[in-house]
Amino acid sequence: MKYLLSFGLIITLAAPAFAWAGEVVVYSSRKEHLIKPLFDRFTADTGIKVTYLTDKAGPLIQRLVAEGKRTPADMLITVDAGNLWQAAERGILAKTKSKVLDKNVPSELRDPEGRWYGLSQRARTIIYSTERVNPKNISTYEGLGDPMWKGRLCLRTSKKVYNQSLVASFISHQGKDKAEKIVKSWVKNLTVAPFSNDNKLIAAIESGKCDIGIVNTYYFGRIQKKRPSVKLALAWPNQQSTGVHVNVSGAGVTKFAKHPKEAKQLLEFLSSEAAQGDFAGINQEFPVNPRVEPTDLVKAWGGFKADSMNLSEAGKLQADSVRLMDRAGYK
Ligand code: FE
Repeated sequence: MKYLLSFGLIITLAAPAFAWAGEVVVYSSRKEHLIKPLFDRFTADTGIKVTYLTDKAGPLIQRLVAEGKRTPADMLITVDAGNLWQAAERGILAKTKSKVLDKNVPSELRDPEGRWYGLSQRARTIIYSTERVNPKNISTYEGLGDPMWKGRLCLRTSKKVYNQSLVASFISHQGKDKAEKIVKSWVKNLTVAPFSNDNKLIAAIESGKCDIGIVNTYYFGRIQKKRPSVKLALAWPNQQSTGVHVNVSGAGVTKFAKHPKEAKQLLEFLSSEAAQGDFAGINQEFPVNPRVEPTDLVKAWGGFKADSMNLSEAGKLQADSVRLMDRAGYK
């Protein structure tokens, strides 16, 4: 009892020195190993404690809607502008104004109303077998519908938001009719049914089931980091026209945040020069902050012209995109 008592006393005395300077609660569909190192640094720098919960984007958005004013979450982190746009549309994100964020995040990579900000960029681009494809034959996304790729093209399912955003970019640039023609021409060239994820698609190209496909750059980056001699490469389409489709992982402060000041501070930190190298680099993505360089592995892919469409368009056109892919027979 005596020991317990003195132990309790020590804790009480020591408590002020260890008291948190504040707290932020984060809901994240970005995986734990990609965010935790950054949260730890933020806490070390500021004394603000970060608590987080990870799940898929859909369930997290659903949960925030259901919790409403009672939500413990101060921040939502998720991937793809399509998801961020959905969250904003459903009224669960607050408008955050910040000179720091405006300086760190280019305008096409954030919501014009400040409800979400991109924090890392990934290109959704063409991947091909270096053994069976001459990169000179690759020029555009629409070119993947050329008869030369008949029985050689692989795609991921149209149910994935990544492809919904990509096709939304075609609608935005070229109109619905042209976009539908592109998707139909792809479907004709498919050799196997669309895959449930990018990793399976990459494996199919490696094993020779198909020769070419479309992936987010970091999936290739992860494989290349483990196996530098992998016989695959990325190509940058639409360099004479609209540029490569880029998308983001990003975050916003929640509408009913209990700690909005600390959440904004965390968001600013994640966009800063101090954090961007790691936030993007751990996953072989491109920083959004133009003053920060990507990893050497990513840099070695070479520069490219990126699509400058504001990513909120990908959200606005999402429903059209889903209907269009359905009409085109893209499963
Ligand atoms: Fe992904």
